[in-house]
Amino acid sequence: MELLKGNVIRDKIIDEIKKKVESLEAKPSLVVMQIGDDSASSVYIEQKRKMALKIGYRFEHLKYDETIREEEILLKIEELNSDEEVHAILIQMPINKKYDSIKIQNAVLPSKDVDGLSFYNIGALASGESYAIPCTALGVVEILKYYNVNISGSNVVIVGRSNLVGRPLSVLLTNLDATVTLCHSRTRNLGEITRKADILIVAIGRNRFIKSDMVGNGTVVIDVGINRVDEKLYGDVDFENVKDKCLAITPVPGGVGPMTIAMLAKNVYNLYLQARK
Ligand code: NAP
Repeated sequence: MELLKGNVIRDKIIDEIKKKVESLEAKPSLVVMQIGDDSASSVYIEQKRKMALKIGYRFEHLKYDETIREEEILLKIEELNSDEEVHAILIQMPINKKYDSIKIQNAVLPSKDVDGLSFYNIGALASGESYAIPCTALGVVEILKYYNVNISGSNVVIVGRSNLVGRPLSVLLTNLDATVTLCHSRTRNLGEITRKADILIVAIGRNRFIKSDMVGNGTVVIDVGINRVDEKLYGDVDFENVKDKCLAITPVPGGVGPMTIAMLAKNVYNLYLQARK
């Protein structure tokens, strides 16, 4: 069994971008907008800040408490949209349900939407014309490519159809000529489908849900899940019981997680280049 380590690839990608940024006079910039005080969000933003500073990006963290009105958020986004020195804007999710998160996400100019989650970018993804591709989905594809996993013609099963991970991934892998099956909570006989996968990708947010009997011999398993139990992190795949059946598998932590940060770094750089054109 080969362990597919994302942190090795992340370090490589970040070093490559850092070198390119060193030679730039005007630095690319990333603005992260946080509404509320979600503790997990604060941890993720800190990781993004560290990445940005390591590379040499300008980084701004705009934090508002939940007394802010939606119109004020939209006005602030408009201001960032028209600021030529801002290249990438990220709205940290989740946000309180009293706000219209879809409206807020779509207020970001597609050419600055670094998460690729605005309707324009989601729609344009299928034709390969989007400004940015959702970071985790892109990170999964990069791991597969880095470790030379054959995608074209392979039978890929994705469990989880969120707009953040499963859905964009199904589009990306279809464009790379995989035969994709997208499963979700209503899928019947899930184990029968997952057992047939050449590549099994799981993004459901259920602690160690995928058991050994749901994985065929020689499968490449990508575990996107992050589940915190008693201060320990676990994936959506029961790693200890599944690993010996796999050809290769990502660990949690240290697999897909670091790739999400690396792809964010890449997206910021690409948006900067596109803005300069
Ligand atoms: P989400 O929005 O909650 O979506 C979960 C998806 O899983 C839904 O499509 C749901 O089906 C499906 N699902 C839930 N239970 C299922 C079951 N028992 N059988 C089959 N499908 C089931 O979650 P998400 O945002 O995609 O995140 C998924 C996981 O990935 C979480 O653990 C999250 O923390 C992690 N994550 C990790 C990274 C990273 O950087 N590594 C980034 C993003 C997310 P329905 O559509 O039918 O409800």
